[in-house]
Amino acid sequence: MTETIQNIDRTTEDGLCTSCGICAAVCPASCIHFERQKETYLPVIDDKKCIRCGKCLKVCPGYSYTYHAEQEDAPACFSVQAKDKKILKNASSGGLVTAMIRKLLQDGQYHVAFLVTGYNYENQAETRPFYKGDSLRQSQQSRYLPVSQQKAVRYILDNPEERIIFVGTSCAVHGLCNALKINGRSRENVLIIGLFCNQAMTYSIYEYMKRYRRWNSPVKAFHFWDKRAGGRTGNIRLEFQNGTHVHLPAREKALVSDFCRQERCLYCMDKLNVEADLSVGDNYTQKNDSPEGSSNMIVRTMSGRNAWEYCREEFLAFNSDYADIKSSQHIDRRLENQQMNNLLFAQRHGGRTVEEGVPCDLASFAQSVQKVTRKARRQYDRQLADLKLGERHAYGLMRWKRIVKFGEMCCGWLLVKLRFYRRA
Ligand SMILES: Cc1cc2nc3c(=O)[nH]c(=O)nc-3n(C[C@H](O)[C@H](O)[C@H](O)COP(=O)(O)OP(=O)(O)OC[C@H]3O[C@@H](n4cnc5c(N)ncnc54)[C@H](O)[C@@H]3O)c2cc1C
Ligand code: SF4
Ligand code: SF4
Ligand code: SF4
Repeated sequence: MTETIQNIDRTTEDGLCTSCGICAAVCPASCIHFERQKETYLPVIDDKKCIRCGKCLKVCPGYSYTYHAEQEDAPACFSVQAKDKKILKNASSGGLVTAMIRKLLQDGQYHVAFLVTGYNYENQAETRPFYKGDSLRQSQQSRYLPVSQQKAVRYILDNPEERIIFVGTSCAVHGLCNALKINGRSRENVLIIGLFCNQAMTYSIYEYMKRYRRWNSPVKAFHFWDKRAGGRTGNIRLEFQNGTHVHLPAREKALVSDFCRQERCLYCMDKLNVEADLSVGDNYTQKNDSPEGSSNMIVRTMSGRNAWEYCREEFLAFNSDYADIKSSQHIDRRLENQQMNNLLFAQRHGGRTVEEGVPCDLASFAQSVQKVTRKARRQYDRQLADLKLGERHAYGLMRWKRIVKFGEMCCGWLLVKLRFYRRA
């Protein structure tokens, strides 16, 4: 039996770290720093300083989070587009996050918002404070990379009186909620804007794109989904240091995303960010959407509702339906897949002693009598093997697998066409 580990070494050992930085924000001995490993940034503990208090593991969303699958009443939902054309043009979807934050900061409703800074793939992406009057342009657009929220969570814990806006993916939001809870703090003064999240990539996506073709200039910014690159919800856009850019077609995303995702995302049950005050994502419902971009928003709490009502005039808004949002984001299919992955993970780690940080979403699966089919086991192993390819700079092999995948995609397409002609 393995020795019980009381700190987040356990998370990194099990491949469940999402590099959110929240462990470092709560560590009383300040003994956690981040190093680039396995194509991402992982926490490393200075063992000489660590006092084994276990706080880091208690807040860690890799292990500790509660997933409420359904709310009793369907929450209020909207399809939204910012009226400010500059914000809309530069946004990932409908510019909801930026236009709302600008209004709330401008009018003094909130003092500070923690948002991602510009593009720099040589260092760990992180959030930093933005105040009234600051330009939010550089913060716009989704970073499909792990983002450190260390500064944000530290600031929130140190400044209980300040009204602060936090923007994050579901795992970061769970980490923040854990940190507030173990410090006995309410979330009254914090507005949590949660992004829908399917997966975040490791930095290998950037490394791979840098080498993938001979570009004339070094890559400056990499957007995994960008509406300027066309496609229903956006394709890949690469910007170079000499000011030029290229757009890559949708199939490139499908061909590389399996190799470069974080392992934790294989088990993530919370695509719609259920702990947030407002959850925001792209509008895939095909209702009231627009080629210029449109966001779907779920209003989950009173703070969320107050913020939304305060800012409503800034947007073109239409009522939307929770069931439509869920089905447009393929939630049921995803949950089925993730549950199976969770079951397999829990079975593989079955013999382990756990004292702290039982992964909340895995605990019930460890005892599950649900049958694992051979097909599901094979699929899980394939997913893990794909991740290893992205991790080890094995880009030659990755290219080979891309070709196989492309072949599979073409065969699938041909089969669909054949069926269509037969029916016709
Ligand atoms: C990793 C990731 C995966 C996503 N997956 C989906 C999905 O599957 N389906 C879907 O509908 N939507 C998804 N989204 C959300 C979507 O891409 C948009 O971020 C969202 O709709 C908000 O768009 P907007 O136009 O309102 O925001 P914008 O005005 O473009 O502003 C974006 C805001 O998000 C912040 N931000 C960007 N990236 C991060 C990050 N990684 N961590 C914390 N804050 C960040 C920026 O600081 C900025 O404030 C994902 C986002 C991310 C970051
Ligand atoms: S156990 Fe405590 S002291 Fe050690 S790294 Fe974790 S939070 Fe820091
Ligand atoms: S708290 Fe975040 S950064 Fe720290 S180990 Fe857990 S997931 Fe990784
Ligand atoms: S899919 Fe889940 S674990 Fe992965 S980055 Fe998104 S919220 Fe975090």
